[in-house]
Amino acid sequence: MAVRFVIIGGGPAGNTAATYAARLGAEVTIIERDIVGGAAHLWDCIPSKAMIATGGAMSMSARARTMGLEKMEATLDFGALRERIDGICTHLRSGVSALLDSQGVRIIHGSGRLKGPHEVVAETTDGIEELDADAILLSTGSRPRIPEWCQPDGERILTTRDAYPPPELPEHLVVIGSGVTGVEFVHMFSSFGSAVTLIVSRQQVLPQKDPEVAAALEDDFLARGVRLYMGARAEGIDRIGDEVVVRCDDGRTARGTHALLCIGSIPNSESLGLEGAAVEVDAGGYIPINHHCQSNVRHIYAAGDLSGKLPLSSVASMQGRKIAEHVMGLHTREHRHLDYDKAASAIFTEPEIADVGLAEADAFASGRKIRVTKVPFSASAKALIDGDPRGFVKIISDPYTGQVLGGSIVGRNAAELISVVALAVTANLKVTDIVESLLVHPALAEALADAAE
Ligand SMILES: Cc1cc2nc3c(=O)[nH]c(=O)nc-3n(C[C@H](O)[C@H](O)[C@H](O)COP(=O)(O)OP(=O)(O)OC[C@H]3O[C@@H](n4cnc5c(N)ncnc54)[C@H](O)[C@@H]3O)c2cc1C
Repeated sequence: MAVRFVIIGGGPAGNTAATYAARLGAEVTIIERDIVGGAAHLWDCIPSKAMIATGGAMSMSARARTMGLEKMEATLDFGALRERIDGICTHLRSGVSALLDSQGVRIIHGSGRLKGPHEVVAETTDGIEELDADAILLSTGSRPRIPEWCQPDGERILTTRDAYPPPELPEHLVVIGSGVTGVEFVHMFSSFGSAVTLIVSRQQVLPQKDPEVAAALEDDFLARGVRLYMGARAEGIDRIGDEVVVRCDDGRTARGTHALLCIGSIPNSESLGLEGAAVEVDAGGYIPINHHCQSNVRHIYAAGDLSGKLPLSSVASMQGRKIAEHVMGLHTREHRHLDYDKAASAIFTEPEIADVGLAEADAFASGRKIRVTKVPFSASAKALIDGDPRGFVKIISDPYTGQVLGGSIVGRNAAELISVVALAVTANLKVTDIVESLLVHPALAEALADAAE
Protein backbone atom coordinates (compact mmCIF):
# COMPACT_ATOMS: atom_id res chain seq x y z
CA MET A 1 0.00 0.00 0.00
CA ALA A 2 1.24 3.54 -0.82
CA VAL A 3 2.52 5.72 2.04
CA ARG A 4 -0.33 8.05 3.13
CA PHE A 5 1.25 11.47 3.60
CA VAL A 6 -0.93 14.33 4.90
CA ILE A 7 0.36 17.91 4.85
CA ILE A 8 -1.21 20.84 6.72
CA GLY A 9 -0.25 24.13 5.00
CA GLY A 10 0.51 24.52 1.29
CA GLY A 11 3.28 27.17 1.31
CA PRO A 12 6.76 26.54 -0.09
CA ALA A 13 7.48 23.82 2.52
CA GLY A 14 4.15 22.02 2.08
CA ASN A 15 3.76 22.16 -1.68
CA THR A 16 7.38 21.16 -2.36
CA ALA A 17 7.13 18.20 0.02
CA ALA A 18 3.86 17.21 -1.68
CA THR A 19 5.29 17.34 -5.20
CA TYR A 20 8.40 15.30 -4.38
CA ALA A 21 6.60 12.74 -2.23
CA ALA A 22 3.93 12.19 -4.90
CA ARG A 23 6.65 11.78 -7.53
CA LEU A 24 8.25 9.14 -5.32
CA GLY A 25 4.96 7.23 -5.09
CA ALA A 26 3.22 8.53 -1.93
CA GLU A 27 -0.52 9.13 -1.71
CA VAL A 28 -0.45 12.83 -0.78
CA THR A 29 -3.14 15.16 0.59
CA ILE A 30 -2.59 18.86 1.32
CA ILE A 31 -4.97 20.78 3.55
CA GLU A 32 -4.73 24.53 2.85
CA ARG A 33 -7.02 27.22 4.24
CA ASP A 34 -6.03 30.07 1.87
CA ILE A 35 -4.09 29.35 -1.31
CA VAL A 36 -1.48 26.79 -2.31
CA GLY A 37 1.70 28.79 -2.68
CA GLY A 38 1.18 30.06 0.85
CA ALA A 39 1.91 33.36 2.48
CA ALA A 40 5.04 33.46 0.32
CA HIS A 41 2.83 34.03 -2.75
CA LEU A 42 -0.05 35.87 -1.13
CA TRP A 43 1.69 38.43 1.09
CA ASP A 44 5.41 37.98 1.55
CA CYS A 45 8.16 37.21 -0.99
CA ILE A 46 6.37 37.75 -4.27
CA PRO A 47 4.22 40.88 -3.69
CA SER A 48 7.06 42.63 -1.85
CA LYS A 49 9.57 41.94 -4.62
CA ALA A 50 7.05 42.96 -7.29
CA MET A 51 6.62 46.33 -5.55
CA ILE A 52 10.36 46.73 -5.14
CA ALA A 53 10.83 46.07 -8.87
CA THR A 54 8.38 48.89 -9.66
CA GLY A 55 10.24 51.17 -7.22
CA GLY A 56 13.50 50.16 -8.95
CA ALA A 57 12.08 51.20 -12.33
CA MET A 58 11.17 54.56 -10.79
CA SER A 59 14.63 55.14 -9.37
CA MET A 60 16.16 54.16 -12.73
CA SER A 61 14.07 56.83 -14.39
CA ALA A 62 15.22 59.33 -11.74
CA ARG A 63 18.82 58.51 -12.75
CA ALA A 64 18.11 58.92 -16.46
CA ARG A 65 20.56 61.81 -16.88
CA THR A 66 23.47 59.69 -15.65
CA MET A 67 22.73 57.31 -18.56
CA GLY A 68 22.85 60.11 -21.14
CA LEU A 69 19.07 60.44 -21.42
CA GLU A 70 16.76 63.40 -21.29
CA LYS A 71 14.85 63.73 -18.05
CA MET A 72 12.33 60.87 -17.67
CA GLU A 73 9.55 61.19 -15.19
CA ALA A 74 7.71 58.20 -13.81
CA THR A 75 4.61 58.58 -11.70
CA LEU A 76 3.10 55.73 -9.77
CA ASP A 77 -0.27 54.32 -10.87
CA PHE A 78 -1.52 52.49 -7.79
CA GLY A 79 -4.29 50.67 -9.68
CA ALA A 80 -1.84 49.40 -12.30
CA LEU A 81 0.58 48.35 -9.57
CA ARG A 82 -2.15 46.36 -7.81
CA GLU A 83 -3.07 44.65 -11.10
CA ARG A 84 0.58 43.85 -11.75
CA ILE A 85 1.00 42.22 -8.32
CA ASP A 86 -2.25 40.26 -8.72
CA GLY A 87 -1.19 39.11 -12.19
CA ILE A 88 2.18 37.80 -11.02
CA CYS A 89 0.73 36.07 -7.95
CA THR A 90 -2.12 34.47 -9.91
CA HIS A 91 0.30 33.18 -12.52
CA LEU A 92 2.61 31.62 -9.92
CA ARG A 93 -0.27 30.24 -7.88
CA SER A 94 -1.85 28.50 -10.86
CA GLY A 95 1.59 27.07 -11.72
CA VAL A 96 1.82 25.48 -8.24
CA SER A 97 -1.76 24.14 -8.45
CA ALA A 98 -1.12 22.67 -11.91
CA LEU A 99 2.08 20.99 -10.71
CA LEU A 100 0.31 19.45 -7.71
CA ASP A 101 -2.57 18.28 -9.94
CA SER A 102 -0.16 16.74 -12.42
CA GLN A 103 1.39 14.69 -9.60
CA GLY A 104 -2.00 13.50 -8.37
CA VAL A 105 -1.86 15.42 -5.07
CA ARG A 106 -5.26 15.86 -3.45
CA ILE A 107 -5.92 19.41 -2.22
CA ILE A 108 -8.52 19.98 0.50
CA HIS A 109 -9.49 23.64 0.88
CA GLY A 110 -9.99 24.03 4.60
CA SER A 111 -8.36 24.18 7.97
CA GLY A 112 -6.34 21.22 9.26
CA ARG A 113 -5.40 19.97 12.72
CA LEU A 114 -4.16 16.82 14.38
CA LYS A 115 -6.68 14.58 16.12
CA GLY A 116 -4.18 11.96 17.19
CA PRO A 117 -0.69 10.78 16.21
CA HIS A 118 -1.96 9.26 12.95
CA GLU A 119 -5.23 11.15 12.45
CA VAL A 120 -5.77 14.55 10.83
CA VAL A 121 -9.01 16.48 10.70
CA ALA A 122 -9.87 18.83 7.82
CA GLU A 123 -12.65 21.37 8.39
CA THR A 124 -14.12 22.66 5.15
CA THR A 125 -17.26 24.56 4.20
CA ASP A 126 -18.80 21.14 3.41
CA GLY A 127 -18.09 19.74 6.85
CA ILE A 128 -15.43 17.70 8.60
CA GLU A 129 -13.27 15.00 7.05
CA GLU A 130 -10.96 12.69 8.97
CA LEU A 131 -7.83 11.35 7.33
CA ASP A 132 -5.49 8.54 8.43
CA ALA A 133 -1.82 9.17 7.81
CA ASP A 134 1.42 7.20 7.92
CA ALA A 135 3.40 10.46 7.87
CA ILE A 136 2.31 14.05 8.57
CA LEU A 137 3.94 17.38 7.75
CA LEU A 138 3.04 20.53 9.68
CA SER A 139 3.95 23.54 7.55
CA THR A 140 1.52 26.24 8.60
CA GLY A 141 3.98 29.14 8.45
CA SER A 142 3.84 32.29 10.53
CA ARG A 143 2.11 35.66 10.73
CA PRO A 144 3.21 39.19 11.68
CA ARG A 145 3.90 39.74 15.38
CA ILE A 146 1.62 42.37 16.87
CA PRO A 147 2.86 43.89 20.12
CA GLU A 148 0.51 44.59 23.02
CA TRP A 149 1.14 48.36 22.68
CA CYS A 150 -0.42 48.71 19.27
CA GLN A 151 -3.59 47.76 17.41
CA PRO A 152 -3.22 47.75 13.60
CA ASP A 153 -6.29 49.15 11.82
CA GLY A 154 -5.38 48.26 8.21
CA GLU A 155 -5.79 51.93 7.31
CA ARG A 156 -2.97 53.96 8.86
CA ILE A 157 -1.45 51.51 11.34
CA LEU A 158 -0.37 48.64 9.14
CA THR A 159 1.24 45.20 9.30
CA THR A 160 3.22 43.85 6.34
CA ARG A 161 0.03 42.10 5.19
CA ASP A 162 -1.75 45.44 4.65
CA ALA A 163 1.02 46.84 2.52
CA TYR A 164 0.66 45.20 -0.94
CA PRO A 165 -0.07 47.91 -1.76
CA PRO A 166 -1.60 49.85 1.15
CA PRO A 167 -4.97 51.60 0.72
CA GLU A 168 -3.15 54.77 -0.41
CA LEU A 169 0.44 55.85 -0.97
CA PRO A 170 1.67 57.11 2.42
CA GLU A 171 2.82 60.69 2.38
CA HIS A 172 5.06 59.94 5.35
CA LEU A 173 5.58 56.36 6.50
CA VAL A 174 7.08 55.48 9.88
CA VAL A 175 8.59 51.99 9.64
CA ILE A 176 9.05 50.26 13.00
CA GLY A 177 11.82 47.65 12.90
CA SER A 178 15.04 47.64 10.91
CA GLY A 179 15.49 43.95 10.16
CA VAL A 180 15.32 42.59 6.61
CA THR A 181 11.59 43.25 6.17
CA GLY A 182 11.75 46.76 7.63
CA VAL A 183 14.60 47.96 5.43
CA GLU A 184 12.97 46.51 2.31
CA PHE A 185 9.84 48.53 3.05
CA VAL A 186 11.91 51.68 3.66
CA HIS A 187 13.52 51.19 0.27
CA MET A 188 10.22 50.40 -1.45
CA PHE A 189 8.27 53.40 -0.18
CA SER A 190 11.11 55.89 -0.48
CA SER A 191 11.48 54.79 -4.14
CA PHE A 192 7.78 55.55 -4.59
CA GLY A 193 8.36 59.07 -3.25
CA SER A 194 7.01 58.73 0.30
CA ALA A 195 8.93 60.44 3.11
CA VAL A 196 10.13 57.68 5.43
CA THR A 197 11.27 57.53 9.07
CA LEU A 198 12.85 54.29 10.33
CA ILE A 199 12.84 53.37 14.01
CA VAL A 200 16.03 51.37 14.67
CA SER A 201 16.15 49.75 18.11
CA ARG A 202 19.95 49.21 18.04
CA GLN A 203 22.81 51.41 16.82
CA GLN A 204 22.85 49.74 13.37
CA VAL A 205 20.18 48.83 10.82
CA LEU A 206 20.20 45.08 10.08
CA PRO A 207 21.67 44.25 13.51
CA GLN A 208 22.48 40.66 12.47
CA LYS A 209 24.54 41.69 9.46
CA ASP A 210 28.16 42.63 8.79
CA PRO A 211 28.56 46.25 10.07
CA GLU A 212 30.20 47.30 6.79
CA VAL A 213 27.19 46.02 4.85
CA ALA A 214 24.76 47.77 7.19
CA ALA A 215 26.76 51.01 6.93
CA ALA A 216 26.47 50.95 3.10
CA LEU A 217 22.69 50.73 3.42
CA GLU A 218 22.50 53.45 6.10
CA ASP A 219 24.49 55.78 3.79
CA ASP A 220 22.04 55.14 0.97
CA PHE A 221 19.03 55.77 3.23
CA LEU A 222 20.51 59.04 4.53
CA ALA A 223 21.35 60.17 0.98
CA ARG A 224 17.70 59.63 0.07
CA GLY A 225 16.50 61.70 3.03
CA VAL A 226 15.27 58.78 5.16
CA ARG A 227 15.18 59.80 8.82
CA LEU A 228 16.86 57.24 11.08
CA TYR A 229 15.93 57.11 14.79
CA MET A 230 18.89 55.07 16.06
CA GLY A 231 18.72 53.32 19.44
CA ALA A 232 14.98 53.98 19.82
CA ARG A 233 12.43 51.32 20.68
CA ALA A 234 8.78 52.03 19.79
CA GLU A 235 6.41 51.57 22.71
CA GLY A 236 3.15 53.13 21.54
CA ILE A 237 1.27 54.52 18.54
CA ASP A 238 -1.43 57.17 18.69
CA ARG A 239 -3.71 57.95 15.81
CA ILE A 240 -4.59 61.64 15.77
CA GLY A 241 -6.83 62.50 12.84
CA ASP A 242 -4.87 61.81 9.65
CA GLU A 243 -1.64 61.50 11.57
CA VAL A 244 0.09 58.72 13.46
CA VAL A 245 2.50 59.45 16.28
CA VAL A 246 4.94 56.72 17.27
CA ARG A 247 6.24 57.05 20.82
CA CYS A 248 9.72 55.73 21.57
CA ASP A 249 11.22 54.60 24.88
CA ASP A 250 13.85 57.38 24.81
CA GLY A 251 11.18 60.08 24.80
CA ARG A 252 11.33 60.84 21.09
CA THR A 253 8.25 60.74 18.86
CA ALA A 254 8.02 60.12 15.13
CA ARG A 255 5.09 61.66 13.28
CA GLY A 256 3.80 60.42 9.94
CA THR A 257 0.65 59.69 7.98
CA HIS A 258 1.06 55.91 8.32
CA ALA A 259 2.99 53.47 10.51
CA LEU A 260 4.13 50.00 9.43
CA LEU A 261 5.04 47.27 11.93
CA CYS A 262 8.00 45.12 10.89
CA ILE A 263 8.95 43.54 14.20
CA GLY A 264 9.04 39.88 13.29
CA SER A 265 6.58 37.04 13.11
CA ILE A 266 5.03 34.33 15.27
CA PRO A 267 4.37 30.71 14.26
CA ASN A 268 0.89 29.40 13.38
CA SER A 269 0.97 26.53 15.86
CA GLU A 270 -1.67 27.28 18.47
CA SER A 271 -4.68 25.59 16.86
CA LEU A 272 -2.97 22.56 15.33
CA GLY A 273 -4.06 20.08 18.01
CA LEU A 274 -0.44 19.36 18.90
CA GLU A 275 -1.29 18.16 22.42
CA GLY A 276 -3.52 15.40 21.01
CA ALA A 277 -0.51 13.90 19.24
CA ALA A 278 2.00 14.80 21.99
CA VAL A 279 4.04 16.99 19.62
CA GLU A 280 6.36 19.31 21.56
CA VAL A 281 6.54 23.07 20.99
CA ASP A 282 9.12 25.46 22.40
CA ALA A 283 8.42 28.61 24.41
CA GLY A 284 8.06 30.67 21.22
CA GLY A 285 5.47 28.28 19.74
CA TYR A 286 7.89 26.73 17.21
CA ILE A 287 8.17 22.97 16.73
CA PRO A 288 11.73 21.80 17.43
CA ILE A 289 13.05 19.44 14.72
CA ASN A 290 16.07 17.19 14.19
CA HIS A 291 18.22 17.15 11.03
CA HIS A 292 15.53 15.14 9.19
CA CYS A 293 12.93 17.78 10.15
CA GLN A 294 11.21 15.25 12.45
CA SER A 295 9.46 16.49 15.58
CA ASN A 296 9.73 14.51 18.83
CA VAL A 297 7.00 12.27 17.31
CA ARG A 298 9.09 10.78 14.53
CA HIS A 299 6.46 10.37 11.78
CA ILE A 300 5.27 13.99 12.32
CA TYR A 301 7.55 16.45 10.56
CA ALA A 302 7.65 20.26 10.74
CA ALA A 303 9.11 22.65 8.18
CA GLY A 304 9.26 26.24 7.06
CA ASP A 305 8.68 29.14 9.44
CA LEU A 306 6.92 26.82 11.90
CA SER A 307 10.17 24.92 12.49
CA GLY A 308 11.95 28.02 13.83
CA LYS A 309 14.89 27.62 11.45
CA LEU A 310 15.79 30.35 8.94
CA PRO A 311 12.51 32.02 7.90
CA LEU A 312 13.18 31.89 4.17
CA SER A 313 11.07 30.50 1.38
CA SER A 314 14.14 28.82 -0.13
CA VAL A 315 14.90 27.02 3.15
CA ALA A 316 11.23 25.96 3.53
CA SER A 317 11.23 24.44 0.02
CA MET A 318 14.47 22.56 0.59
CA GLN A 319 13.19 21.21 3.92
CA GLY A 320 10.05 20.05 2.06
CA ARG A 321 12.12 18.20 -0.50
CA LYS A 322 14.31 16.52 2.15
CA ILE A 323 11.23 15.50 4.14
CA ALA A 324 9.64 13.89 1.07
CA GLU A 325 12.82 11.86 0.53
CA HIS A 326 12.94 10.85 4.19
CA VAL A 327 9.27 9.87 4.30
CA MET A 328 9.83 7.68 1.24
CA GLY A 329 12.84 5.97 2.82
CA LEU A 330 15.51 7.44 0.53
CA HIS A 331 17.69 8.66 3.38
CA THR A 332 18.84 5.17 4.21
CA ARG A 333 21.23 5.74 1.25
CA GLU A 334 24.03 8.30 1.23
CA HIS A 335 22.63 11.83 1.29
CA ARG A 336 23.48 15.36 2.33
CA HIS A 337 21.77 16.92 5.35
CA LEU A 338 20.44 20.43 5.01
CA ASP A 339 23.09 22.82 6.30
CA TYR A 340 21.34 26.00 7.43
CA ASP A 341 24.70 27.77 7.83
CA LYS A 342 25.14 27.60 4.06
CA ALA A 343 21.83 29.21 3.09
CA ALA A 344 22.23 32.26 0.87
CA SER A 345 19.98 35.21 1.67
CA ALA A 346 19.33 38.57 0.09
CA ILE A 347 17.84 41.92 0.98
CA PHE A 348 16.19 43.62 -1.95
CA THR A 349 17.18 47.18 -1.18
CA GLU A 350 19.16 49.56 -3.34
CA PRO A 351 21.97 48.66 -3.36
CA GLU A 352 20.99 45.02 -3.00
CA ILE A 353 22.64 43.04 -0.22
CA ALA A 354 23.35 39.31 -0.22
CA ASP A 355 25.44 36.96 1.82
CA VAL A 356 26.18 33.31 2.43
CA GLY A 357 28.23 31.16 4.77
CA LEU A 358 30.67 32.39 7.39
CA ALA A 359 30.47 36.09 8.29
CA GLU A 360 33.62 38.04 9.06
CA ALA A 361 32.36 39.13 12.51
CA ASP A 362 31.44 35.54 13.48
CA ALA A 363 34.88 34.28 12.44
CA PHE A 364 36.59 36.94 14.58
CA ALA A 365 34.26 36.24 17.51
CA SER A 366 35.13 32.53 17.41
CA GLY A 367 38.86 33.22 16.94
CA ARG A 368 38.95 31.40 13.58
CA LYS A 369 41.68 32.61 11.21
CA ILE A 370 40.27 33.72 7.88
CA ARG A 371 41.37 35.52 4.75
CA VAL A 372 39.11 38.43 3.74
CA THR A 373 39.41 39.91 0.26
CA LYS A 374 37.30 42.78 -0.99
CA VAL A 375 36.82 44.54 -4.31
CA PRO A 376 34.62 47.61 -4.89
CA PHE A 377 32.22 47.69 -7.85
CA SER A 378 33.71 51.07 -8.76
CA ALA A 379 36.54 48.98 -10.29
CA SER A 380 34.09 46.98 -12.43
CA ALA A 381 33.61 48.00 -16.07
CA LYS A 382 30.07 46.60 -16.11
CA ALA A 383 29.04 48.49 -12.97
CA LEU A 384 30.23 51.72 -14.60
CA ILE A 385 28.41 50.85 -17.84
CA ASP A 386 25.22 50.20 -15.85
CA GLY A 387 25.64 53.57 -14.14
CA ASP A 388 25.66 52.05 -10.65
CA PRO A 389 29.14 51.47 -9.19
CA ARG A 390 27.96 51.38 -5.56
CA GLY A 391 28.98 48.55 -3.26
CA PHE A 392 31.53 45.77 -3.08
CA VAL A 393 32.21 42.03 -3.09
CA LYS A 394 33.82 40.42 -0.07
CA ILE A 395 35.03 36.81 -0.09
CA ILE A 396 35.97 34.94 3.07
CA SER A 397 38.25 31.95 2.69
CA ASP A 398 40.49 29.65 4.66
CA PRO A 399 44.02 31.15 4.62
CA TYR A 400 45.68 27.70 4.57
CA THR A 401 43.53 25.70 2.12
CA GLY A 402 41.93 28.47 0.04
CA GLN A 403 38.47 26.95 0.64
CA VAL A 404 35.67 29.48 0.17
CA LEU A 405 33.85 29.86 3.51
CA GLY A 406 31.49 32.73 2.81
CA GLY A 407 30.91 36.06 1.17
CA SER A 408 28.93 39.27 1.17
CA ILE A 409 27.91 41.36 -1.81
CA VAL A 410 26.50 44.86 -1.75
CA GLY A 411 25.47 46.23 -5.13
CA ARG A 412 23.33 45.78 -8.21
CA ASN A 413 22.20 42.16 -8.78
CA ALA A 414 23.79 40.99 -5.51
CA ALA A 415 20.96 38.45 -5.06
CA GLU A 416 21.89 36.79 -8.36
CA LEU A 417 25.66 37.07 -7.97
CA ILE A 418 25.74 35.45 -4.51
CA SER A 419 24.71 32.16 -6.19
CA VAL A 420 28.30 31.71 -7.37
CA VAL A 421 29.62 32.06 -3.81
CA ALA A 422 26.79 29.85 -2.47
CA LEU A 423 27.76 27.11 -4.91
CA ALA A 424 31.42 27.47 -3.91
CA VAL A 425 30.54 27.23 -0.19
CA THR A 426 28.21 24.22 -0.66
CA ALA A 427 30.58 22.34 -2.98
CA ASN A 428 33.70 23.13 -0.87
CA LEU A 429 35.36 24.94 -3.80
CA LYS A 430 38.54 26.96 -3.44
CA VAL A 431 39.14 30.59 -4.33
CA THR A 432 41.25 29.38 -7.28
CA ASP A 433 38.15 27.64 -8.71
CA ILE A 434 36.47 31.04 -8.97
CA VAL A 435 39.60 32.88 -10.14
CA GLU A 436 40.28 30.34 -12.92
CA SER A 437 36.68 30.24 -14.24
CA LEU A 438 36.46 31.86 -17.66
CA LEU A 439 33.78 34.46 -17.01
CA VAL A 440 31.96 36.79 -19.36
CA HIS A 441 33.39 40.26 -19.95
CA PRO A 442 32.08 42.80 -19.16
CA ALA A 443 30.01 41.33 -16.33
CA LEU A 444 29.48 42.12 -12.66
CA ALA A 445 30.58 38.55 -11.86
CA GLU A 446 34.14 39.52 -12.78
CA ALA A 447 34.24 41.35 -9.43
CA LEU A 448 33.79 37.94 -7.77
CA ALA A 449 36.87 36.58 -9.50
CA ASP A 450 38.82 39.73 -8.60
CA ALA A 451 37.74 39.46 -4.96
CA ALA A 452 38.68 35.76 -4.88
CA GLU A 453 42.18 36.53 -6.29
C1 LIG B 1 7.31 40.79 3.94
C2 LIG B 1 8.05 39.50 3.79
C3 LIG B 1 8.86 39.31 2.69
C4 LIG B 1 9.55 38.11 2.52
N1 LIG B 1 10.39 37.97 1.45
C5 LIG B 1 11.10 36.83 1.29
C6 LIG B 1 11.99 36.67 0.19
O1 LIG B 1 12.16 37.57 -0.62
N2 LIG B 1 12.66 35.51 0.07
C7 LIG B 1 12.49 34.48 0.97
O2 LIG B 1 13.14 33.42 0.78
N3 LIG B 1 11.66 34.58 2.01
C8 LIG B 1 10.96 35.74 2.20
N4 LIG B 1 10.11 35.88 3.27
C9 LIG B 1 9.91 34.72 4.17
C10 LIG B 1 8.97 33.69 3.53
O3 LIG B 1 7.78 34.31 3.12
C11 LIG B 1 8.67 32.56 4.51
O4 LIG B 1 9.86 32.08 5.07
C12 LIG B 1 7.94 31.42 3.79
O5 LIG B 1 6.71 31.85 3.29
C13 LIG B 1 7.72 30.24 4.75
O6 LIG B 1 7.10 29.22 4.05
P1 LIG B 1 6.16 28.20 4.84
O7 LIG B 1 5.90 27.07 3.88
O8 LIG B 1 6.71 27.88 6.16
O9 LIG B 1 4.83 29.00 5.16
P2 LIG B 1 3.83 29.96 4.41
O10 LIG B 1 4.31 30.46 3.12
O11 LIG B 1 3.45 30.92 5.48
O12 LIG B 1 2.60 28.99 4.13
C14 LIG B 1 1.87 28.40 5.17
C15 LIG B 1 0.50 28.06 4.68
O13 LIG B 1 -0.19 27.31 5.69
C16 LIG B 1 -1.56 27.70 5.67
N5 LIG B 1 -2.14 27.35 6.97
C17 LIG B 1 -1.83 27.86 8.19
N6 LIG B 1 -2.53 27.21 9.16
C18 LIG B 1 -3.32 26.30 8.52
C19 LIG B 1 -4.24 25.33 8.96
N7 LIG B 1 -4.50 25.12 10.25
N8 LIG B 1 -4.86 24.56 8.04
C20 LIG B 1 -4.61 24.72 6.72
N9 LIG B 1 -3.72 25.64 6.23
C21 LIG B 1 -3.07 26.39 7.13
C22 LIG B 1 -1.52 29.18 5.38
O14 LIG B 1 -2.75 29.60 4.82
C23 LIG B 1 -0.38 29.27 4.38
O15 LIG B 1 -0.83 29.19 3.05
C24 LIG B 1 9.40 37.07 3.47
C25 LIG B 1 8.58 37.25 4.59
C26 LIG B 1 7.91 38.45 4.75
C27 LIG B 1 7.04 38.65 5.97
